[in-house]
Amino acid sequence: MVQDSRYDPLFEPIQIGPVTAPNRFYQVPHCTGMGYSRPQMLAAMRGIKAEGGWGVVCTEYCSIHQSSDDLPFPHASIWDEGDIVNLKMMTDAVHAHGALAGVELWYGGQPAANLYSREQSFGVDSVPNNSVIGLPRQTQAMTLDDIEQLRGWHRDAAQRAVDAGFDIVYVYANHHYLLSNFLSPETNSRTDEYGGTARNRVRLIREIIEDTLAVVKDKCAVAVRYSIPAEITEDSDELIKMFEIIAELPDLWDITVTDYGLEMGSSRFVKEASNQAAVAKIKSMTSKPVVSVGRFTSPDTMLAQIKNGTQDFIGAARPSIADPFLPEKLSQGRLDDIRECIGCNVCYAHNSLCVPIRCSQNPTMGEEWRRGWHPDRIAVKHADESVLIVGSGPAGLEAAVALGQRGYAVTLAEAEMELGGRINRECALPGLSEWARVRDWRLGQLAKLPNVAIYPDNRLDAEAVLELETQHVIVATGASWRDDGVGRYLSSPFDGCELDSVLSVESILDGKLPSGSVLIYDDDHYYLGWAIALKLREAGLAVTMVTPEARIGGWTSYTDEQKQHMQTLIAADVKMLSDLGLVSWDGKAAQLECVFSGNVIEVETSCLIPLTARLPDDSLWLSLQTDKDKFKSLQRIGDCAAPGIIATAVYSGHKAARELGTAESKKELRRDRIVATRLEPFA
Ligand code: ADP
Ligand code: SF4
Repeated sequence: MVQDSRYDPLFEPIQIGPVTAPNRFYQVPHCTGMGYSRPQMLAAMRGIKAEGGWGVVCTEYCSIHQSSDDLPFPHASIWDEGDIVNLKMMTDAVHAHGALAGVELWYGGQPAANLYSREQSFGVDSVPNNSVIGLPRQTQAMTLDDIEQLRGWHRDAAQRAVDAGFDIVYVYANHHYLLSNFLSPETNSRTDEYGGTARNRVRLIREIIEDTLAVVKDKCAVAVRYSIPAEITEDSDELIKMFEIIAELPDLWDITVTDYGLEMGSSRFVKEASNQAAVAKIKSMTSKPVVSVGRFTSPDTMLAQIKNGTQDFIGAARPSIADPFLPEKLSQGRLDDIRECIGCNVCYAHNSLCVPIRCSQNPTMGEEWRRGWHPDRIAVKHADESVLIVGSGPAGLEAAVALGQRGYAVTLAEAEMELGGRINRECALPGLSEWARVRDWRLGQLAKLPNVAIYPDNRLDAEAVLELETQHVIVATGASWRDDGVGRYLSSPFDGCELDSVLSVESILDGKLPSGSVLIYDDDHYYLGWAIALKLREAGLAVTMVTPEARIGGWTSYTDEQKQHMQTLIAADVKMLSDLGLVSWDGKAAQLECVFSGNVIEVETSCLIPLTARLPDDSLWLSLQTDKDKFKSLQRIGDCAAPGIIATAVYSGHKAARELGTAESKKELRRDRIVATRLEPFA
């Protein structure tokens, strides 16, 4: 029973073709960085989402044939019997909690580099690979026979999906993969019956939907992923026209917007439920259920989607990563326990980096199987012992919550009046307000834990720590930005770093505003240079950003923010210079060298802000070393141990809390890999 009956509509079952979803919470297909090579990690993670109440749980993109291979980017596959066995682990894990399992059958085409299989990739035409790899190789323009072959592969994969126990089988017709290339007049220049008119361009998708329906019959529903522009204009006519032709064909529509940067835009650029006007348009054109994402984290926004008839399901990737138990918490009336996604796209970044995803908010993401971490349960304390945590940034707060939940007597000391560490200063910068959720969720949890005593405005030294006589001490004192330019490019301080006109990032974060013009030397390559530049521009200062890399904020290519990152800097009239390393500063100008030729140029500004690296604030930890035997355990966590992104600090705090008093830290990391018992004959 749902605690607050207002939310009942979110928990009503709904028919999708021959199957019934138990509620409206739908984890749409999303990348995990796990793919076919980490099937147990994947199955456990998807199963946890079903346990947390998601009524439908889908795979990531799942290749139907070896000529659609996206390595090095990890993807699922349904090529053979072995894949069926592995995928069945996932469907079983999902079914165990009464949810439906969906599979996103995928054929890459132009973006798939086929680096593993070395097969030729089919394409609408012979066009160059357009993935981030930019492989100097083209697709094989499909003949009518090739089209028949593709349909056969899709039918076979659909049958394997049935065999693996899936309830929903996708036809994947967006995200610039092969089927969407057939749809678009820009990418489809065919002159046969698969090109030209809208009816011809949609033909292959129509045939594949019909093929899939025929294969899965009454066992599975057929879903189609389809995109339309966020703003319906005259130009959207074509996609709408094609949609009309097939509107009633599948059992479910999974609708996205054509711009990926909007569909899964980060909170710096895109807010909750931004694309719902386009979704509502589609919904009005079909009687079939519709699902769509919108980084929904507010239960009231979710409810409004269903009540307004914008869509039938609350589609989610990131909200289900940040909180796999979101539906259950909502049904139990535990609204303030919901851990809201902050929209940082760190999860996606790790898929881009070809490793299992992680999350800034949910440290257990990806660790369900390999470490046995559950997102909503934690082992009770091993003994009646006390823990002191010094520092309340993301690492200290997370450790305090998890140790408090384990039942220890926890003392949390913070030097500042406000708890939150780096979050407090960063979330005050342009575009980063939603990041405050990292702090706020943890403060909300701490308020429910009477065994955690909090002491703000208490800067502890070693003597004060010893006086408290706790058995365990965790030092989470963070890190500070250095102002001498040392970082990736420079291994020693630049000449002139001691001049008053060199301003530290710390002083800017503290609210100090320089005057005149500013040069930000960004050898950090993430969001902070961008946020400081915009803040200074808002204050009317002329800003130049310089990087030794090819682009300002290069790491944002992994979070899929690079385009908007650059667009906003250009719009704010920030001058940008790249491939230049800092040599020196004379108080009036920076001397910068071309990273290739070494040629030096000068850029005149009133002041210089070096944004390069941080120094751990580890003096307390170091001064406690002589007394370390007085504690049962003494450890440093988060940025104080190794400065990094917020997700790393949260993870570090959580790990310390999980492992305290257990043998966990001594356990070897569980690895999900094939262990062959013998070398199969190969020649
Ligand atoms: P992390 O990202 O590792 O959590 P932060 O820099 O966000 O680190 O937070 C570190 C926190 O530790 C800051 O809020 C800082 O004020 C606090 N702090 C640093 N030194 C001390 C100290 N000696 N006593 C108490 N708090 C401290
Ligand atoms: Fe949301 Fe960031 Fe977690 Fe991804 S990593 S789910 S964007 S909080």
